[in-house]
Parts: sequence; structure tokens; C-alpha cells
Amino acid sequence: MLETVFSAGQPSLNGNEQKYVQDCLDRGWLTQGYYVNRFERLFAEYHGVKHALAVCNGTAALHLALAALGLKPGDEVIVPDLTFVATANAVMYTGAKPVFVDVDPVTWTIDPKLIESAITRRTRAIVPVHLYGVPAAMEAINALAVKYGLFVVEDCAEALGASIGGKKVGTLGDVGCFSFYGNKTITTGEGGMVVTNDDYLAAVMRLLRGHGQQEGKRYWHVVLGFNYRLTDLQAAVGCAQMEQLDGILERRKAVFQEYWERLPFVYFQTEEAGSESGYWAMAVTLAPRFNRDRVMKDLAECGIETRPVFYPVNRLPAYNVPGDFFVTDSISKQGIVLPTHAELTPSAVNYISKQLGECLNA
Ligand SMILES: *Cc1c(COP(=O)(O)O)cnc(C)c1O
Repeated sequence: MLETVFSAGQPSLNGNEQKYVQDCLDRGWLTQGYYVNRFERLFAEYHGVKHALAVCNGTAALHLALAALGLKPGDEVIVPDLTFVATANAVMYTGAKPVFVDVDPVTWTIDPKLIESAITRRTRAIVPVHLYGVPAAMEAINALAVKYGLFVVEDCAEALGASIGGKKVGTLGDVGCFSFYGNKTITTGEGGMVVTNDDYLAAVMRLLRGHGQQEGKRYWHVVLGFNYRLTDLQAAVGCAQMEQLDGILERRKAVFQEYWERLPFVYFQTEEAGSESGYWAMAVTLAPRFNRDRVMKDLAECGIETRPVFYPVNRLPAYNVPGDFFVTDSISKQGIVLPTHAELTPSAVNYISKQLGECLNA
């Protein structure tokens, strides 16, 4: 087998990363400090929100947000069945129960028409996931949240820069959660962020992030907290990444446009009118007559790394919750995520598209 020529994802580290990391080392302060503050400020300004808190990873961001809601055993939280496992795991960490709901066949995000029947007396929150960059149907979700008095925590791990009606995802619910893992839109290696306009939730999340220690009173821990801090070294990288965000998003969009033109017949994941994707990953499904795993293997032989779409979370051994979610099942079985990153050239996308066409004709 050839070595991988086109990786599924790749960071863009073309800015001030080295300079800021060196400066951080020169300052001699590696834990939460100058660069974390600066990263939080840049992130808050970008989103036009009052509060942005940096955390050690995206899963911690989700857990912190859900913990701040005061969830407890017996509570239920509605999540899509098609997502990365961390969305549901974060609910489990609070003791609450994730209640899975199928996704929409066009956007692949939680189907708002199916949410209402999943709401019970115990439901406390909805966690929509903007999957692969495509915004969930936030208007319908927020309407349900108002009707039933629920919190909305957006999982924006894959959707930095996406928007609905010009409003950035992460600012459309109560709290928005982001990830800066190595393959995400911008990266700090590991890292995450929560954003909110809610002063109370921001204060609780700040408290929980730092061991539950009361501000200004050392070793006085008023609640059971966590250590979810980001390091200044990572935030230094994050600041450099934020400076490149607009360009990264533009180049990712260009990759999508090239795929839309070049790909052979496949079904595209598609955003609703009025929504703008974060263009994180080009995700498509193959018609049922194709063997998805076979196609992925053939592409790997041409040096093209692809990823399968996530398994339905309810079917994972870690969950094993009964339920048949037909849309999630079919997308999961036939879905492929093609190489997508800001360093991918048009000729590379052309080559990948051609190879996929050949694999489908074989
Ligand atoms: C990456 C991701 C997370 C978790 O982020 P980490 O930084 O890896 O902990 C959560 N939800 C979704 C949808 C993700 O893609």
C-alpha cells in the first residue's frame, strides 16, 4: 500500500505560532496567564459575546457547560444519535442521561421534528451538534427550548466560523462549546472554549474550571470543581491561529466548492438556506449499491486517507441503548469524509475526485 499522500485533515500553522510560543517561554509563565487572556479576548470579539473561557479540550468545554446547568442523575439531555461520542459522554459525566434523536437526512444534524416527542418531565437541555460544520436547525430548536423551558448547549466543535442568518454558531443557544483538537478548524493541539452571554453561567463555569476555588480566596473551594484550564503555551498557538481564521475558512470553502464541481455522483451533506457552513469536512454518502468500506480501502491504495462517518452513538458498546434511528443508520453505513483542510490545492481535490470516480466505476 502507498503511503498517505492526502491526509484527511491537517493543521495550518503558517502564522505567528513560533513567535508567540517563544514569547510565552521567554515570559517564563506556561500555565493560564497572558496568552489565555488574549486568546479568550480574540475569541469573544470574533463571536461578539461577553464571555469566552478557554479550557483544556472540547469535551471539557461540553462538560463544563452542562455541569454549570446543575444537571444531576435523573435529568435527561437530548442529543443527536449521529455525532462524535464526546457529545453524549459529556452528558454522562454529569450523571444525566443522554436521550438520542435521529438526524435530518439533508443537514445530518438533529431533526427538530423528532425532538418534541423525546421531551419528558425530566428533560433539562438540548445539545445540537453542528456536524462537520453544518449548522443545526437552531431556530426550531430554540423555539422548543422556550416552549419547554430547556437550556440549549451548542456543540460547535466542528463548526467554528459557521453561521445562521449572519449570526455565528455558539452564540445562538445558552452556551457554545468549541474544540481545538489537532484536526479541527483551528488547533492548539488539545484545547477548547466555551462562549456565553449569560453572566451567571460564565461565573459558574469559571469557578468550575479552576477547582471550584472562590475568586480572590486561595484554597477556598466552594463547589466540587475540575481542573479544565488551558496552558498559556497552547493559548499562544491559539492566538496565532485566530489571526489566520478568516483565511483558513476561505480556503476550506474553496476546497468545498472544488469538490462540489468535481465529485462524481454522491449525496452531499447540505446546509439549510440562510446557513453558512464552517466547511470543516466534506462529508458525502454513497448510493446503497456501493460498498463504502471497500471504496475507502481503494482510496487508501491511491494514498488518499478518508474517514468513515461516526457510528450511531446508541449502538456503541459504551452505550448500547435500544432505538432504531434510520437516517443516522444509513448515513453512518454509507458515509465518507473526504480529505478537507486549508492546505489542500485544487489539483489535489481534482485528483481525489477522479480517484473516487474510478473506485465507484470499478
Ligand atoms: C472533536 C469533537 C468533540 C470533542 O473535542 P475534544 O477537543 O476532542 O475533546 C466534541 N464534539 C464533536 C462533535 C467533536 O467533533
